[in-house]
Amino acid sequence: MTERTNLSLEDYRWDAQGCCGCRGCIYVDYVFCEGAKNPFRCPSLIRYNFDVYTALGRGKVALRMLNKQGEFTDSTRDILYKCNLCGACDAGCKRNLDLDPLMVMETFRIWAIDNGHEPPEGLKKVTDTIAESENRYGAPHDKRADWLPADAKFSENPEMLYFVGCNSSYKNKAIAEATIGILEAANIGYALFPDEKCCGNPIYVSGALDAAIEQAQKNIDTLKASGADTIVTSCAECYKTWKVDYPKIMDKRTDEMGYKIIHITELAAEKIEDGTLKPSHEVPMTVTYHDSCNLARLSDNWIPWHGTRGRFGCTEPIKEYRRCDTGVYKQPRAILKSIPGLKFKEISRKKENALCCGAGGGVADAYPDFAQDTANDRLNEIADTGAEAVVSACPYCVDNLSEAVKDGGKSVKTYDITQILCEALTGKGGL
Ligand code: SF4
Ligand code: SF4
Repeated sequence: MTERTNLSLEDYRWDAQGCCGCRGCIYVDYVFCEGAKNPFRCPSLIRYNFDVYTALGRGKVALRMLNKQGEFTDSTRDILYKCNLCGACDAGCKRNLDLDPLMVMETFRIWAIDNGHEPPEGLKKVTDTIAESENRYGAPHDKRADWLPADAKFSENPEMLYFVGCNSSYKNKAIAEATIGILEAANIGYALFPDEKCCGNPIYVSGALDAAIEQAQKNIDTLKASGADTIVTSCAECYKTWKVDYPKIMDKRTDEMGYKIIHITELAAEKIEDGTLKPSHEVPMTVTYHDSCNLARLSDNWIPWHGTRGRFGCTEPIKEYRRCDTGVYKQPRAILKSIPGLKFKEISRKKENALCCGAGGGVADAYPDFAQDTANDRLNEIADTGAEAVVSACPYCVDNLSEAVKDGGKSVKTYDITQILCEALTGKGGL
């Protein structure tokens, strides 16, 4: 058993009370805002249009709870969980102040569970399902690797283990197949992560910290027992969970975890640059790229801080901030631009200012209508680029956007980047 770490709302009291109400967490900074059409960065504000459904509002509610000034009601739960934990507010806030509004909201969820409150029903159902079956779909655990083609070329001494994730193991299996296609084209010695279990992202975002630690520990123990120390993922959510949330809940720096986590786009971009991978098959398509929150602005290495605050919030020892600036932004773009026949169009809200697809933070499970509203907002922005397809590097973004396309009768196509790249490398990406 792992000991409970000190990840409490009280740790982020300063970040809630230091809010100056500037609303940088709501608007895209005007320097980065292309025109007047898409000024907002917070999906929750776009949908519910009240300050309480923003980082600044949730910070105020969190303070009331910490100060025992009010009851946690059903409305409080709605305010807390109708948030994608997408981090767009965090990127905006850090342009002005050294505050961590996202951590206020994450630890507020932990506070809620610790104080006997339940997460919303849809999210609870998913966490219960993971506890029963080790995946979010309730599918048989022993069928997790059923997607695997018979001719997969595993290495006996793998350089890295492929952590597939629940989504691509059971649902979007084409992503898993395309990923091993890329690994094999790059001559990487790989094997599947043995006895893979859900990374636990839905558990962490529900606020159930003890259960999230337990889930993380199962996968970390398996990794240790395997003797490997490098993991590759195609799922942005698994990537961020291993890279940021596992160290966060274990109270360690990312580089103290004893393993390295790579997203397939990081690996492929490097192999294209050094000439190992040669995309040679034409993909005649005009595409835009949707930055997944988990792969991009949420994926800076985790840096724990314990210390004291002085006047004006000065820290002792000095706190190192994560500023949403070291995530995987350039690699997916470099991959797309290397593909013959493919035309790339940049979208208005991009990189750290990208609008979430709507699925994150448990919203797709708990509030599917809200998730689809945000996806529709994003699809309008995608349509404005003139691209015929949107590419992402996260199966959950692809799912949420695809569902909105289907329900809205829209014509834009949706792809995971592994499918596009595998097509360009082998002609067998299944497009
Ligand atoms: S995490 Fe995303 S949805 Fe939540 S308050 Fe911040 S910008 Fe809004
Ligand atoms: S950007 Fe930061 S300081 Fe400004 S209103 Fe939002 S949370 Fe408060």
